[in-house]
Amino acid sequence: MLEAARIRVTGIVQGVGFRPFVYRLAKNCSLKGYVQNLGGSEVEIWVEGEKKSIISFIEKLKNEKPRAAELDKIEIEWVKPWGFADFEIKRSGTVKTKLSMIPPDFGMCDDCLREVLDPTSRWYRYPFHSCAWCGPRFTVIEHTPYDRENTSMKFFPLCEDCRKEYSDPGFIRRFHIQGISCPQCGPQLYLTDRNGAPIRCRDPISEAAKLIDEGYIVAVKGLGGFHLAALATDDDVVKELRRRKKRSRKPFAIMALDLNVARKIVYVTEEAEDLLTSSARPIVVLPRKSYEVSKEVAPGLDTLGVILAYTPLHYLLLNETRDKFLIMTSGNISGYPISKDLDDALKKLGDIADFFLTHNRRIVNRADDSVVRFTDGTPMFLRRSRGYAPRWIEVWRKLERPAIAVGAMLNDAGAIGVEQYIIPTQYIGDVENIETLDYLREAIDFLIKNYGIDICESKIIADKHPNYLSLILARELASKCGSDVYRVQHHVAHIASVMAENDLKEAYGIAIDGIGYGDDGMIWGGEVLYIGEDGSYERLGHLEYIPMPGGDRATKYPARIVAGILYEIYGMDEALRISRKYRLSDKLPGGNVELKIALHQASNNLKTSSIGRVLDAFSALLGVCWERSYEGEPAIRLEAAGLGGNHLGLTIEWEDGVVQTKEFFLSLLERGFDGLSLRDIAYTVQYELARGLGIVAKEEGAKKVLVSGGAAVNTIIIKSLREIFGKKNVVLPQRLPASDGGISTGQIYYAMLSGEI
Ligand SMILES: [Zn+2]
Ligand SMILES: [Zn+2]
Repeated sequence: MLEAARIRVTGIVQGVGFRPFVYRLAKNCSLKGYVQNLGGSEVEIWVEGEKKSIISFIEKLKNEKPRAAELDKIEIEWVKPWGFADFEIKRSGTVKTKLSMIPPDFGMCDDCLREVLDPTSRWYRYPFHSCAWCGPRFTVIEHTPYDRENTSMKFFPLCEDCRKEYSDPGFIRRFHIQGISCPQCGPQLYLTDRNGAPIRCRDPISEAAKLIDEGYIVAVKGLGGFHLAALATDDDVVKELRRRKKRSRKPFAIMALDLNVARKIVYVTEEAEDLLTSSARPIVVLPRKSYEVSKEVAPGLDTLGVILAYTPLHYLLLNETRDKFLIMTSGNISGYPISKDLDDALKKLGDIADFFLTHNRRIVNRADDSVVRFTDGTPMFLRRSRGYAPRWIEVWRKLERPAIAVGAMLNDAGAIGVEQYIIPTQYIGDVENIETLDYLREAIDFLIKNYGIDICESKIIADKHPNYLSLILARELASKCGSDVYRVQHHVAHIASVMAENDLKEAYGIAIDGIGYGDDGMIWGGEVLYIGEDGSYERLGHLEYIPMPGGDRATKYPARIVAGILYEIYGMDEALRISRKYRLSDKLPGGNVELKIALHQASNNLKTSSIGRVLDAFSALLGVCWERSYEGEPAIRLEAAGLGGNHLGLTIEWEDGVVQTKEFFLSLLERGFDGLSLRDIAYTVQYELARGLGIVAKEEGAKKVLVSGGAAVNTIIIKSLREIFGKKNVVLPQRLPASDGGISTGQIYYAMLSGEI
């Protein structure tokens, strides 16, 4: 008997070769009907034939889908057969019935690579080759629907060969794929000097590879912006790059030609391999091998961030260098957004790069490389950008009105909420200057326009910190329609972001990070929270307040925090004596004078419960790191110093929900460091701080805790919490970064819980 089904598929189904796949599948199952792109991100499929063929079709639809496609939802409706004579691909519809997810960029696929390396292929050595399964999407889209005329490929009309393949469903990787091109019709690559003057050469890629091998720094325009490429094996080159980029110790990422090359420099587990080769192609932080990579690449750390070549351009370039791997770091001035066009790059990177390998395809949306690390074995985002943005998070109910959230300050991302989705922007950076604020505005505007939300109908949401630059943007948006900015507490937003990922309506959370504005005007960052269904929340506990002598300067020079703690324990004279014993003045640029100033400032009112500051203090006290040259450095290096250590049996206490940090500090000083290994001390300190917070949460009734904030990526901390609650009851962010990049999503989710939207 003839049966029919109408199937609606939502997710990433447009621009990924889904329709030709459906076409072939339907033909193979002897089904008739059609497949059609609807105006949004949905595809409608009508199949008729034998019931068992239809069922097997639906099974295969899920299991054999193209590499880049993601089927979020499949709605099946059994209908009366229409009597189609054949199966066809119908013209795209224009009626938008559902929102469409803008696809992220996809790393180069194996088929494209094979064609690029095949001398008989028409894509031989073509740096912009892509297909249904790979290539840029988000970074070239001006607006939806994803058609070529709405992308920066519109300036490259298809040649006859490409047009033929574009129009023929037989070409499964090219049929109706908006981004395809070839050397005849696609973008062109060229090389310039630091003034933008073109350099004549037979092959810009070979020339650039030669220059890099000679020790030059070359800026390379990729998918989401410029990179700076340089030898990773030459100390002098790496030092010179650090000097020019004014980046003293922050690790550089390394791009490797392929997995085999990556294996020479880092240990690659199976899980890491899956991530490295996934279509998102993130940077993955992995334990380094003692190979020839310069120590200057990641000073003080025994890990390296590695990424595999993810476009033919990168592959061809690396393949011609001597090492087959290079430093490939974001092309920006420290603290500013990544450059996306040559003019900007010449202006900003002209003093850093010697040459520019660039092309004439416009980057519409910037996107840095995403970064993932393993925390006690669990992969977690340090940065969520290219390959992941602008994927959305579906929530459990439809929002009553749209929302726009600006996040916080460091490692920021914005987000919008619309219908049943929260859509975070790509990673923006530290919103501490106007250019980064502009980038945040641009990224949010893109989402506002593409999802057609009305600013006047929207709830505008920001952090409670009174001085964050992102608040300016929130006020600007709110003032357009005379509305107010809705403010959400920083750590509540951290926990709410994990609730959003897990559809939770209430939760216990441990929010641990560097800085967040607290409801009492202090700086929070070691918090045990409970968030209830109606958005009410309670601060159940926290790390003890400690002084921050000199405010921001104490963040940069954590020996000041040590001085502050000593002052509170011992008072001025004794604190001064102990400070001398531990040579604290050597760890401050102003020496003894600064030490005395810090001790005096310790009595001021600025206090913090931030775990970041405590970790910093221990890092300085133990001599691991006493000057922060990048966000989180003392804590990151303390973690590295403590991994694999043993517990010393020294335990932390708690009282009325307050974890007694100072007493713990004191007990360590009284024990003295003699005969103890640094590794064991560093391990114990981190383990115990986490245990204190964990026990407080447990005593308050938590059986399961959500953990977020920058310190939630610390392996020792998470291991400690897992030992209290059991692995499955420690819920970590998985689709969002634990750092402040997840805040905007949490802000929207919290507003939803509170019934504001
Ligand atoms: Zn491909
Ligand atoms: Zn062509």
